[in-house]
Amino acid sequence: MFSKSNASLLPYNTFGFDVRVTNLIQIDSIQELQKLYSEGFFQKSFKVISGGSNLLLTQDLNVPVLLLRIPGITKIDETDQFVCVEFGAGENWHECVVHCVENHWHGIENMSLIPGCIGAAPIQNIGAYGTELKDVFESLTAFNVNTGNFEIFNIEQCQFGYRDSFFKQHGQGKYIITSVTLKLSKLANINTQYGDIQSVLSQKNISNPSLKDVSAAVIEIRKSKLPDPQLLGNSGSFFKNPIIDKQLGDELSKKYVDLKIFPINDNQVKIPAAWLIEKAGWKGHKRKNVGVHEKQALVLVHFGGGSGTEVYELAKDVQSDVANKFGVQLEFEVNIW
Ligand code: FAD
Ligand code: NAP
Repeated sequence: MFSKSNASLLPYNTFGFDVRVTNLIQIDSIQELQKLYSEGFFQKSFKVISGGSNLLLTQDLNVPVLLLRIPGITKIDETDQFVCVEFGAGENWHECVVHCVENHWHGIENMSLIPGCIGAAPIQNIGAYGTELKDVFESLTAFNVNTGNFEIFNIEQCQFGYRDSFFKQHGQGKYIITSVTLKLSKLANINTQYGDIQSVLSQKNISNPSLKDVSAAVIEIRKSKLPDPQLLGNSGSFFKNPIIDKQLGDELSKKYVDLKIFPINDNQVKIPAAWLIEKAGWKGHKRKNVGVHEKQALVLVHFGGGSGTEVYELAKDVQSDVANKFGVQLEFEVNIW
């Protein structure tokens, strides 16, 4: 266990904000969590950080922060058709994807290059290009900070929703995810129908793509559209794509013929938040040290030398402008500290 007082979170958040915490404690094993519990650590406030790629840090924090780095990749079950693999919470998500692709295990290739650690993936049920974590989820183990016990959660108990789960709602602050088990298919099960994957493969004359081809196509598309946090601070999509009443969706699509609408159920539709923000005139907007990304309006960026508060204020302005112009309330996807 590594511990540092008055530590900076600068190296641990992809927006690149230099906020201080009273103590940064790196957790490398489940035993270290049990030790902290026996010392009464969890009786006071604390926070958990993994890859820091879904966070906006707006102020110094007067609490200790646990940096989750529990490692491990263990095959726990296998048949001719599937394999179940348990990943330690601190494993890097994209490296887990690469591991699965190299082993010809299908299921998470469309989520290539998502930053962060696998222990945070269930928190917002990460998703991209038509796949969500819940599609391959088997179970997870989480440390209950009130009892000191480890609990196993199945898919129902996680209450996964669109960029949402039990751990973002009632379970927030009560559990630390220590491992995640995925059930991956050993049978070919490729989905190239979403977004630009098919057209990128066609440009390369790939008609029968392998897992590696799909992963490479996703990586290529993402690199062309999304800012690399190493070069330009950001936390990916700042807002969720709103799910609205079908009636409002119908009204908007009559008014704006270029608006794409995706059905969720008989009464609700999903609309792209990026379209709303761009249509409202914010794409490429720059305000001092922060702005709205020029290629993807859903991504707020930090050019350097700014603060999380600047991003927060920009986000609030975007939110209220979109509400005024379209009657749609955007919800933050990023966690604000
Ligand atoms: P952190 O930012 O460290 O934490 C996020 C939240 O989870 C915090 O509230 C934290 O307290 C909590 N938490 C973290 N670890 C644990 C744990 N072990 N136990 C309990 N609580 C925990 N997301 C998508 O869904 N799809 C995408 O395609 C996508 N693309 C992105 C692209 C870019 C360029 C960036 C910067 C971000 C993108 N994201 C995307 C958002 C982000 O990468 C994911 O949400 C990711 O899962 C966050 O992981 P993390 O380890 O960085 O979590
Ligand atoms: P895109 O392909 O330009 O599509 C725009 C939006 O329309 C997406 O957000 C997507 O919603 C929705 N969409 C497109 N095709 C769809 C379909 N067939 N069915 C249902 N919804 C559809 O999106 P993009 O910005 O380049 O991102 C590509 C993928 O990466 C998306 O899945 C996106 O969620 C993911 N991504 C996420 C983050 C993040 O931080 N959360 C950052 C970058 C990219 P969904 O978002 O619901 O898929």
